[in-house]
Amino acid sequence: MKRVLILEDEANIRSFVVINLKRAGYEVVEAATGYEALDKLEQNPDIGVAILDVMLPDIDGFEVCRRIRASGMKIGVIMLTARTQENDKVTGLMTGADDYVTKPFSPAELTARIDALFRRVGNDTKLVCDMLKQGPFTLNLRNHSLEKDGVKVRLTQVEYAIMKLFMQNPGKPLSRENVMAMVWGRDYVGDLKIVDVNIRRLRIKIENDPQNPDYIMTVWGHGYQWGR
Ligand code: CA
Repeated sequence: MKRVLILEDEANIRSFVVINLKRAGYEVVEAATGYEALDKLEQNPDIGVAILDVMLPDIDGFEVCRRIRASGMKIGVIMLTARTQENDKVTGLMTGADDYVTKPFSPAELTARIDALFRRVGNDTKLVCDMLKQGPFTLNLRNHSLEKDGVKVRLTQVEYAIMKLFMQNPGKPLSRENVMAMVWGRDYVGDLKIVDVNIRRLRIKIENDPQNPDYIMTVWGHGYQWGR
């Protein structure tokens, strides 16, 4: 059965949506706050579409959408926007929403949007999370973000590319020339020191003790290696 999450703090609107979605054949998961929605999405990975109200008591619907996208969950997102808030549509689409429905809406309109989204997302519940996970690190290949122990580590595009190269080649010695070619491109002409400079910065960001690295190991006279 197709699962939908409805995030709306106003109980009467929420139950109105729930009744109509159930009638339309969906299985519905309810949330009244942004954090509750994020928890429920984590607990129910088979949810295919999330309907997010914007105005909420804790974090707003845009922030919920942003976090859904940052997590790499492959679900459709519909924002519920107020008619007076034209800007909401733009903000919603900027934060990664797929569609929006303006309040007040008819049940038929909402279910039509959900159906369309399920068709687009593909109604198989196979959730493809393009993630590389190793030790405390999770690299999200979709939005190019890195987390260490669940905490986001801010990376430049070059640092991200180096992390990806490392995590795809654990335990394999990579020469500095190798790293340069893979990250900057084969045509790049430059000093190999740029590799070392970026590695040094990356170590400061990800190592517990950058002077005694646990993850980015130096291979003397050659280059670097991810892990031992
Ligand atoms: Ca609300």
